Amino acid sequence: MARYQCPDCSYVYDEEKGEAHEGFPPNTSWAQIPEDWACPDCAVRDKPDFIPLDPGEVGEKAAASSTGGAER
Ligand SMILES: [Zn+2]
Repeated sequence: MARYQCPDCSYVYDEEKGEAHEGFPPNTSWAQIPEDWACPDCAVRDKPDFIPLDPGEVGEKAAASSTGGAER
C-alpha cells in the first residue's frame, strides 16, 4: 500500500486507511481516486499534484509508541 502527500499542506493519503470523509473506504488504491479529486485539507491541490511517498520512509511513527511504562 502506498501513500501520497499533498505538496501544499502535508496532508497524506494512505491507501490502507482510505479517507472516510471523502467517501473512500480503507484499501482504496490511488488509482481508484478520481483525477479531479482535490486535497481534503487545503482544497488547493488536485490528485496529480500529490507526491508518492516511499513505503520505507514513513510508518515508523505508528509503531514507535507501543512501549509504555519506561518512566522508572
Ligand atoms: Zn493539501
